[in-house]
Amino acid sequence: MIFERSTAEVLTRLDELRKADSPTEGGHLLSYVYDPGIAELHEVAAEAARKAQPLNGLDPTTFPSVAALERDLVAMARDVLAAGVPDVVGSVTSGGTESCILAVKSARDTWRASTGSEARPTLVIGSTAHAAFIKAAHYLDLRLRVLPVDPDTCRLRAEDVAAALDETVALVVASTPSYPHGALDPIAEIAEVCAARGVAVHVDGCIGAWVLPWWPGAEDRPAWDLRVPGVASVSVDLHKYGYAPKGVSVLLYRDRDRHRRQWFATSAWPGYAVVNPTILGSRTVMPIAAGWAVSQTLGRAGFAELTGQIARAAEQVHKAIDGIEGLRVVGDPIGPLLAVAADPDVAAERSVDPHRWADAAKDLGWTLQPQPGRTQSDGTLLPRTTHLTLTPVTERVSVELCDALAEAADSVRGVPGAQAPADVVAAAGQIRPEDLTSDNCAAVLALVGLEPGGGLDGPLAEVLALIEALPEPVAERLLIEFLARFMA
Ligand SMILES: *Cc1c(COP(=O)(O)O)cnc(C)c1O
Repeated sequence: MIFERSTAEVLTRLDELRKADSPTEGGHLLSYVYDPGIAELHEVAAEAARKAQPLNGLDPTTFPSVAALERDLVAMARDVLAAGVPDVVGSVTSGGTESCILAVKSARDTWRASTGSEARPTLVIGSTAHAAFIKAAHYLDLRLRVLPVDPDTCRLRAEDVAAALDETVALVVASTPSYPHGALDPIAEIAEVCAARGVAVHVDGCIGAWVLPWWPGAEDRPAWDLRVPGVASVSVDLHKYGYAPKGVSVLLYRDRDRHRRQWFATSAWPGYAVVNPTILGSRTVMPIAAGWAVSQTLGRAGFAELTGQIARAAEQVHKAIDGIEGLRVVGDPIGPLLAVAADPDVAAERSVDPHRWADAAKDLGWTLQPQPGRTQSDGTLLPRTTHLTLTPVTERVSVELCDALAEAADSVRGVPGAQAPADVVAAAGQIRPEDLTSDNCAAVLALVGLEPGGGLDGPLAEVLALIEALPEPVAERLLIEFLARFMA
């Protein structure tokens, strides 16, 4: 066999490309990655993925190990999230987005089966629900009803949910916690009002359901999982706090028939019988095997111990931010996520814009995640924030991190937040959504210094200000244009 390049050369090239990436270990990147900080876990995950590398999850009858791995993962999730509930079933999916989309698909088809209607049902979510549900409504063609959350607590209100219920509603989504602010929606209350109308509730535990069961005080908080009557399904991502590599999530259902409506089967073609529990056909088993290996290694006690580390880090970071003049933690987050906003009770010259703060922290070597401000449908404002996802390794670096957060705030205190340039907003606003093209979007991006094909090396505050200021369809199309040109 004549190779064009040696395998060593190819892998060296990959190492070089990887040097441009944010560090995935060590706790300096406070989103996207979930580092348990334990070398053996990285190794067992890598080794398990390697053993599963040649498999195709498309057909578990040909590769029964795939069924066995998935059965174990579903059983573990059932044990943690549905204690004592009979007949809970579920599937392993490729990630949170797929779990959310499938929960919506089964709800849509359950609604259609029970009403006998082919109409578009409604998906009810709070404004802080994960964007995966907006995507689900888009892909599956449901009407989307977005309810405002309480602007102080950022929690969805059960009475608002009750008022939104009518015969078109196929599913209500609530989060434990929500990604943007780490707020726990009142699941039991929401499930109660929904059950009274016969409407199913999906609990999005994608990020929280694998820490909250072990978070300090869990016994004293109301149940939020499948033990709550009225909760029809729960999602949990093992590629977050299950410490698996990306590509594995679990979706549980109380009801077997609802679960089956997530599936797709067809015998209406001349090829092999197609029976797919999830969206993909051929699918990797690598992250499933890795997530299985990590969870078998850790067990409940291991997850509990890692959660304890995160909780201690969260307490320290929360306290540190409370001590920074000009900033405040939004709401009363319980769990590993924090959102930080400007303190409205502080005079402008002592205030800290959260996006300037994130840019300043980045200069100090810490990557936080800026989130745009948004006006909700009831006119209340969810202010611009900066998000932090805390992980077990955060505890080891928490002193350094807290110092950097304070230093970053000191360096931008009194600096006004970014505003989108009026000429750019005017130029972008003149383009009708139906006239947005790749070329005129690239021209708008260039006006704000985002050269076609360039990266995002500079401060993000200006970019976020633009997203906040532009009409949604324009902002969305610009985001697509930016990333499409960056990637290709
Ligand atoms: C991460 C997340 C999702 C989507 O998950 P992906 O794995 O990124 O597709 C959904 N809901 C919540 C609350 C999340 O944090």
